[in-house]
Amino acid sequence: MTCYQVFSYTEYMSEKTYHRYLFIITLVYFISGFINITLALLALFCMITPFILVYRNRRLTWCHSVCPRADYLNKLGLISFRKTAPKWLVSAKMKRGVLSYFCMNLMFIGLSTFMVSQGNIPPIDKVRFLMAFEIPWSLPQLWFIEGISDVLIHFSYRIYSIMFSSTVLGTILAIRYRPRTWCAICPMNTMSADYLKRLKASN
Ligand code: SF4
Repeated sequence: MTCYQVFSYTEYMSEKTYHRYLFIITLVYFISGFINITLALLALFCMITPFILVYRNRRLTWCHSVCPRADYLNKLGLISFRKTAPKWLVSAKMKRGVLSYFCMNLMFIGLSTFMVSQGNIPPIDKVRFLMAFEIPWSLPQLWFIEGISDVLIHFSYRIYSIMFSSTVLGTILAIRYRPRTWCAICPMNTMSADYLKRLKASN
């Protein structure tokens, strides 16, 4: 059973109290990009920890009890149309597609960061939506830290962009369909579920 199926709104309302405040972490994360873009690297914690937990606990601990985005999406339940998502949107093909896109994005980030470090391309110090669409304004940087390299700035903007894109998509899906529709195609969930399936098959 995926976390998309597990969490209904009623179940959400009966969750432990601290779960209801996890959405603040999501909001603080995006605000932190306005303070100093290198704070965007905190997202790496959210990208790595789900796998550590699934490996250690052999269950979707992150998705069920820790993920701040999950709580943020649940909060959008208050303004959601709560339509059932079309089958194609939550299909296995779509999950694979989103996962492939995510991996491609990570490859692009790694490659472009390497090229910046070699001086082959200038750093991209703008937020992009889905890799291709540049947001036409710069993030204000309220906390200036001297001596941050172009490589780190580029890398931070790219990580912020990946989080920004997936949150915007998650928000649109949450309002149009059920709040946790994003979770059905979230790459973290797809990879964790794959690992658990393989584990079950090998036992
Ligand atoms: S599926 Fe993704 S967004 Fe949903 S709870 Fe898990 S990690 Fe968070």
